[in-house]
Amino acid sequence: MGNCSGGSGGGGNDFQSSSSAPNQNGRKDGKITVLPAAAPPPPRRPVLTGAGRILGRPMSDVHAAYIFGRELGRGQFGVTHLVTHRETRQSFACKSIATRKLLNPDDVADVRREVQIMHHLTGHRNIVELKEVFEDRHNVHLVMELCAGGELFDRIITKGHYSERAAAAIFRQIVTVVHACHSMGVMHRDLKPENFLLLSADDNSPLKATDFGLSVFFKPGEVFKDLVGSAYYVAPEVLRRSYSAEADIWSAGVILYILLSGVPPFWGENEQGIFDAILRGHLDFVSDPWPSISGSAKDLVKKMLQADPKDRLTAAEVLNHPWMREDGDASDKPLDIAVLSRMKQFRAMNKLKKVALKVIAENLSEEEIIGLKEMFKSMDTDNSGTITFEELKAGLPKLGTKLSESEVRQLMEAADVDGNGTIDYIEFITATMHMNRVEREDHLYKAFEYFDKDKSGYITMEELEHALKEYNMGDANTIKEILAEVDTDNDGKINYEEFVAMMRKGNPDMATTRRRK
Ligand code: ADP
Repeated sequence: MGNCSGGSGGGGNDFQSSSSAPNQNGRKDGKITVLPAAAPPPPRRPVLTGAGRILGRPMSDVHAAYIFGRELGRGQFGVTHLVTHRETRQSFACKSIATRKLLNPDDVADVRREVQIMHHLTGHRNIVELKEVFEDRHNVHLVMELCAGGELFDRIITKGHYSERAAAAIFRQIVTVVHACHSMGVMHRDLKPENFLLLSADDNSPLKATDFGLSVFFKPGEVFKDLVGSAYYVAPEVLRRSYSAEADIWSAGVILYILLSGVPPFWGENEQGIFDAILRGHLDFVSDPWPSISGSAKDLVKKMLQADPKDRLTAAEVLNHPWMREDGDASDKPLDIAVLSRMKQFRAMNKLKKVALKVIAENLSEEEIIGLKEMFKSMDTDNSGTITFEELKAGLPKLGTKLSESEVRQLMEAADVDGNGTIDYIEFITATMHMNRVEREDHLYKAFEYFDKDKSGYITMEELEHALKEYNMGDANTIKEILAEVDTDNDGKINYEEFVAMMRKGNPDMATTRRRK
């Protein structure tokens, strides 16, 4: 890895004060023990008394639900362990953040925000999935998908550097993360290879962004001043303390330079030396291996490492750069932002499912939906508490998407569950929340109970009619359609199994996460 001394060995080039310190991780052998799956009964969370200081919600015991195994790595505030779910026997990674180390309100806010942002972004293929969060007397525990393949950083060191084709495949995944963050109103602020882990030791393993400890929500036009990040990857405007989301593109450009050449583009003997090199901005395309690297790759690097953030490509433009497209799935079509694809998915659902999602949305915790709430607020420009057609039309392009008038109208109609012509806050959350919220057994069970008023174990025709009426959706025909689709054993009512099957149907992400059942 040439001159690059940072990274997993603990080189001292991180200078942020927050939770993304150099790692001193233990080795990962790439193997996970998979124990036989058992049928999971509805989850129970033993409740400790009182509310947690950090997340402000009832404390609960992570050890009652998970068995702790070996250490996977550690950072400034936390230790990450391999854990096994006691009932499903599935393996996860659990990052435990010691609350006694969170001394000032900023530290507390950082952890709270990290949890909120992970909730907001979870569900993307290249972002580690947050399964559950616990707080007990000593720690906040983030239970997440296990990435058993180690750090991208280590892979780069092992391989020296990649072929352009392999680099493009890796880099595409990194940029889709940046694109997802930006279109969901999140600036990452700490993009570097160490923050990407491989899901498995497999050569084609997907990459997962794992660390959102420095990420923040941003609004278009908002300017940030905090000097955070990691020395090699930090953008010049961050050093000048006036920056926005374009700083992430710079950091990604630095990663690309390293993927192609094995060394960082801006180098110095110490932190100040690195910063000076960044501010000078000279790019070396003369030393090996650059002469043998394609012009197209160099073009992309240059366009990402433009000194003026206004001249830099956006994440969507990077994904559409010819070098990124060389490897097959070339695409000129504008990328779907998550909010949009979730709304489209929502449009295709039957009415029972929409009402059930609304019940679930009403029961989500603040931290699970804070990101969507922020998006709602930024679209609701007159602060009326509802989004009109005009506001939706103006708001979606701000998130980076182009839509025809009739498409906006269709989305509007889909999200407007009660049909009053505007989208209220809960309707927006309902239509745009990620399906893995819904996947949770306790959420599904609560929704079923909402319909099954007499607790008979079935949703009857009358109960269905009643619930749909409440949301202005019920007519005899709708009920017939729903029964025809959902009531697979044709007994004229819906049992819990049929209900769960309906909720899971047609959600591609859920199918993959549920495979083990
Ligand atoms: P910090 O934010 O303080 O850097 P992290 O928990 O993000 O701490 O990372 C510490 C180390 O834990 C990482 O370098 C990695 O080796 C390991 N780690 C973090 N998340 C996972 C995960 N989901 N799967 C496997 N290992 C992980």
